Amino acid sequence: MLTLLELLKDGRFHSGEALGAALGVSRSAVWKQLQHLEAELNLPIHKVRGRGYQLASPLAFLNAEEIAANSGSTVWPVYISDSVDSTNAEALRLVDAGSAAPFLVLAEQQTAGRGRRGRKWVSPYAQNLYYSLVLRIEGGLRQLEGLSLVVGLAVMQALREAGVQRAALKWPNDVLVEDKKIAGILLELVGDPADICHVVLGIGINVNMQKAADVDQQWTSVQLETGSSVDRNHLVARLGLHLQGYLDRHKSLGFSALQEEWEQNHLWQGRAVSLIAGVNQIDGVVLGIDRQGALRLSVDGVEKTYSGGELSLRLRDDS
Ligand code: ATP
Repeated sequence: MLTLLELLKDGRFHSGEALGAALGVSRSAVWKQLQHLEAELNLPIHKVRGRGYQLASPLAFLNAEEIAANSGSTVWPVYISDSVDSTNAEALRLVDAGSAAPFLVLAEQQTAGRGRRGRKWVSPYAQNLYYSLVLRIEGGLRQLEGLSLVVGLAVMQALREAGVQRAALKWPNDVLVEDKKIAGILLELVGDPADICHVVLGIGINVNMQKAADVDQQWTSVQLETGSSVDRNHLVARLGLHLQGYLDRHKSLGFSALQEEWEQNHLWQGRAVSLIAGVNQIDGVVLGIDRQGALRLSVDGVEKTYSGGELSLRLRDDS
């Protein structure tokens, strides 16, 4: 199937006969494989009598050499899969199998992309980035402090550099363009955070996605924002460089050094919000974050701080 994709990825027309000859199969076998491609990878294929078959838009695959060529000195070993359940899950399996961190896991598609609290991250084939960077952390709870917010800053900068000037942050770890989600971040940790542990920095960025029936909130992508398709290998490399820069600063100076920058880029600074924790809801006004990355809210005129992976922020209707 991949070979057929390789032949079609240029986005040009190919006759059934030529495809069959290149693959060494009959025209009807080509037809069957095309049906598979459309169904399994959700890739629209134009079929025009007399001309043949054409992918609705050309595809460029993830490629380790192209990523390395643009990565400067930030060259992490990279594992690229065609399809995985989730790049975070794959990264955790690699940690388990003894792979030495830092390393990067990428996939063209996730069949069970994860969000927080068991939610799903919609991950169609060859359109977006599904990116998990694994770090080894030694004896440093401080190194974990505010880490998901630091990742948010790096993703935001990479998006702005790619032309999405209005990319901004929503506490704790979403990247939005106005009220539309363009990227999500999910950190997962194994080991003892007070001793030696591995943390997986999971990042999903909508890059060239233009349609997604099953995302149940407002979303956008780099292509929708900028009007042109984006080279994902280049974006992987640039994201790596931004991550490296922020992670270095975080490691040497702690999260407090990034607190102000984060607040300046917080979309909901000063807004009236509800903080949802399971069935509980706290109404307040966003003051900012503290030196550890916890949310500071003014609740009935009193400043309170909140942290934890189970919290969700929503704008209040009257904000
Ligand atoms: P919170 O506001 O609590 O962070 P969230 O809705 O942003 O909640 P996440 O766990 O960060 O939750 O992300 C999962 C949610 O993101 C899904 O429930 C879905 O609404 C949305 N989502 C899933 N796939 C995509 C995607 N490719 N692009 C944008 N949004 C998506």
